[in-house]
Amino acid sequence: MKKQTQGITRSASDDALNLAAERARRYVREIGARRVAPAPGDVAALAGFHEGFPATPSDPQDVLRMLDELGSPATVATTGRRYFGFVVGGVLPAVMGANWLAGAWDQNACLRVMSPLAAELEDVVLRWICEALNLPVECEGGLVTCATTANFTALAAARNALLLKAGWDVAEDGMFGAPPIEMVVGAEVHASILKALSLAGFGKRRVTIVESDAQGRMRADKLPKLTERAIVCIQAGNVNSGSFDPASEICRRAKEQGAWVHVDGAFGLWAGVSPRYRHLTQGFELADSWATDAHKWPNVSYDNGIVLVRDGASLRAAMTQSAAYLASGTRREPMHHTPEASRRARGVELWAALKSLGRSGLCALIERTCALAKRFESGLRAAGFQVLNEVVINQVLVSFGDAATTREVIRRIQEDGTCWCGGTEWQGKTAMRISVSSWATTEEDVDRSLEAMVRIARACGVS
Ligand SMILES: *Cc1c(COP(=O)(O)O)cnc(C)c1O
Repeated sequence: MKKQTQGITRSASDDALNLAAERARRYVREIGARRVAPAPGDVAALAGFHEGFPATPSDPQDVLRMLDELGSPATVATTGRRYFGFVVGGVLPAVMGANWLAGAWDQNACLRVMSPLAAELEDVVLRWICEALNLPVECEGGLVTCATTANFTALAAARNALLLKAGWDVAEDGMFGAPPIEMVVGAEVHASILKALSLAGFGKRRVTIVESDAQGRMRADKLPKLTERAIVCIQAGNVNSGSFDPASEICRRAKEQGAWVHVDGAFGLWAGVSPRYRHLTQGFELADSWATDAHKWPNVSYDNGIVLVRDGASLRAAMTQSAAYLASGTRREPMHHTPEASRRARGVELWAALKSLGRSGLCALIERTCALAKRFESGLRAAGFQVLNEVVINQVLVSFGDAATTREVIRRIQEDGTCWCGGTEWQGKTAMRISVSSWATTEEDVDRSLEAMVRIARACGVS
């Protein structure tokens, strides 16, 4: 007995966790000071991973050391305050911690019996999200990987519901021979909707495209005559301009004619938590389904998408799978609300984010990032550059002149490493996109980034 006690060493798990925690802490401490895009040499060093499949085991600590030493320098510093590419949030402290715990728990959020905790937290966060986003309380939803999957899930539910009304059961009989459904999208529709509708069997070419205005908003007056076999996809927060479709008017017309309205609100819907920006999301609550992301504006870790459907039965009808061994209880079962069965418990981090922020914290995050986008806008205008969009939320589009010059400025900004922004095409013009989405970004970060942008643009001959 005595000998055994003397011989106790910390378990391999404990050692691995301590090492990971120490390395992760260092990463978090240093990330704000590091260049944003990894240095080319650090990316090249990733070649070190390309060994033959190891014939023998490695010590867990050595595995983690290699991961940190080769991996960490080659990450993109999206959590480091000056990343403005795509629409990528940082990660809140409570979320990162919850993510570690969730890793230790390794819960499967498939069925309630597999993880009562995961199922319960999903119930809580889905209700909180409806409250935060001013959506109908009767909505049912699911936690999925991303807005693309959320769009797909909602469109599958819409498709099945509309065709069932027409006497056609898609789940049993498929799409071949089904009565046609008209898909209506705006000219500035996000590519993920097109992918989602192609996955759902509609076909990217078989869409009716409604003209949009100069900010990318669907023009309600250009809507075609709708029927009860139409799905209209509208947008809360254009990925480039941040603009919002006129939801009240579109939903009113669609309702009159029995059409289904789906909202792609990947990030924009979250503007609704702020009294200052709520007017932008007004009317979106009248729709039938919604897709949004928690990994964008609310700064939850990847991956974290959310689908919500007003008529929960439609969602369940489209997503249910049954087998004797999957027998479920009387309460909500996560797997009947998503395309996936086995799934990580992404409600854990989502709960931690919403709990740690609360309504006022979430509101402050939205308002602060919008104010920082405005700071970018004024700085860029003051330097003489052309801002192409009305900066209504956290998105700024700037041109540095002709397409080639703008592209060259973007390339050098990325190379410089002070901050990171991507490019886009906006209404026929090449532009740089700035998306302020991280809780951690400060005014000083914006000023430092502006200084780099102006310095680089001048070096490219932009006056
Ligand atoms: C980001 C975005 C998407 C896609 O989101 P993923 O989470 O990457 O799938 C869809 N629509 C809009 C408007 C977006 O901004």
